Amino acid sequence: MLLMNPGPVTLTERVRNSLLQTDLCHRESEFFDLQDEARARLVKLYDLDPAQWSAVLMTGSGTAAVESMIAALVPENGKLLIVENGVYGERISQIAAQYRIAHSIVKHEWMQAPDLARVAAALDADEAITHVAVIHHETTTGRLNDLKALASVCRERNVKMLVDGVSSFGAEEIDFAEGTIAAVAATANKCLHGVPGAAFVIVRRDALAAAASRTYYLGLVRLASLQDQRNTPFTPSVHAYYALVEALRELDEEGGWRARHARYLALAEQAREGLFARGIGSALPAAESSVVLRAYKLPDGVSYERLHDALKARGFVIYAGQGGLSKELFRISTMGDIHSPDIERLLVSFDELMR
Ligand SMILES: *Cc1c(COP(=O)(O)O)cnc(C)c1O
Repeated sequence: MLLMNPGPVTLTERVRNSLLQTDLCHRESEFFDLQDEARARLVKLYDLDPAQWSAVLMTGSGTAAVESMIAALVPENGKLLIVENGVYGERISQIAAQYRIAHSIVKHEWMQAPDLARVAAALDADEAITHVAVIHHETTTGRLNDLKALASVCRERNVKMLVDGVSSFGAEEIDFAEGTIAAVAATANKCLHGVPGAAFVIVRRDALAAAASRTYYLGLVRLASLQDQRNTPFTPSVHAYYALVEALRELDEEGGWRARHARYLALAEQAREGLFARGIGSALPAAESSVVLRAYKLPDGVSYERLHDALKARGFVIYAGQGGLSKELFRISTMGDIHSPDIERLLVSFDELMR
């Protein structure tokens, strides 16, 4: 079965086999070697300086990393502005509300790009705002939000950015050097091709120094400081760390995030062109979409359930639209061990279905 849902992904045999390594106690030096390698490779993936940036690991799914980032990095007397244009932006607002973090929201329709003029006006109207939270790749629609443009709006106002990069880290460009991004949250089991269970926040060390402590298990500062001392507060998902490290080695050998971007782009375009030729249109223009996942319009008279079940019977798991989009859209991700002949077979399956 090929997984074309937005994570967990179809594993390579190499990553799958890494799960079969020896049982490991998380208080032994071998575990800390593994933890050190994962952290070092995560920082190196975007050529970051480990003296300035820390990769903080935790056990949980991508939402754990997002929650840890938001709960810690808006300081006690800080305020968060959340840019919402999909399910995941709305999730950050729910997290901020749950922790009683002062926040306001610039809300958009799910199909819309962030309106920079509205974001700028919201920042200008409220000097208390210290941070902006945004989703890099809004997986709801496949839209790649323009981090560069948003960063310049924030930089002019001396506001830092907290980025949900869960479905972009490892495959899309992220400009850490520009200085406005304070942290990016992500997970092992999307563009990195690991298994679910390990998540992480890439955070500037100076942002950690100003962080708040609002949560126990997901406390970012404590996780960071113990990991710097080759320690860990709790039992980590050891096997997920095995897979993460193996997946990061594989990614490095394949040429890093740029190579993964190029590979995903080719697959996404092959799928888009093939579906277009079969009368199935994209929900968004390619130039506004990520290379990771694209949303498509359901063909007239075909329900998602019928499409899903027919493709599943042929070995492909696709993904529904979320919420109100579930009757209009379906989504196809090209993360994981997916290659051009797989997309070709998928398109042939569509031919059979359309007949
Ligand atoms: C997948 C995803 C998440 C996290 O989902 P989990 O199920 O917790 O792994 C968060 N944000 C975005 C943009 C995602 O695509």
